[in-house]
Amino acid sequence: MHSDLIRHDAINDLIDALSPLASQAKVENSYWIVTPDGEYLSDNGNEWCYDCGSAKVRNLRKHDRKRADEYILDGGWVSEHDTPPMCAHCGVKLRASLLFYGGTYELDHFRENPPEPGNVDHAYEVSEMLSALQYTKEDDAYLAREAMEIARKLIEQPNDPALKALEARDG
Ligand SMILES: [Zn+2]
Repeated sequence: MHSDLIRHDAINDLIDALSPLASQAKVENSYWIVTPDGEYLSDNGNEWCYDCGSAKVRNLRKHDRKRADEYILDGGWVSEHDTPPMCAHCGVKLRASLLFYGGTYELDHFRENPPEPGNVDHAYEVSEMLSALQYTKEDDAYLAREAMEIARKLIEQPNDPALKALEARDG
């Protein structure tokens, strides 16, 4: 497998370096709602954290008592995504295995909005971006290199607010 893909080994080290921060980000397991008429879709997406998904299922059952037991909260495991998923109700980040496209999506974002040192959510998102770009085609290797550069800068930047204030004043 992966014979036509390049593996970017340095990505593992960067993910390790980010993990003390990234592991502090609030991330929940992802659930979805099965109904008698198919998967439940909301305007904000169709994935939920456990609490919001459970509340939504209770609500749907209440409005369709005859078929109440056909409404089920399913999921709770990690699945593959093209974009980073969020809960349709509360917006909390949901666990996912981000595919290559998802990595480039995050890269587009961080290219315009560099991640902030010390920000646990940014550290998490950067490490998700890195894992999505760990294997690339040769033509796409520059994307992985760019993602690694963003991660390196984030890791090397001083995290101390006093230092940052000084830099802002001097810079
Ligand atoms: Zn939620």
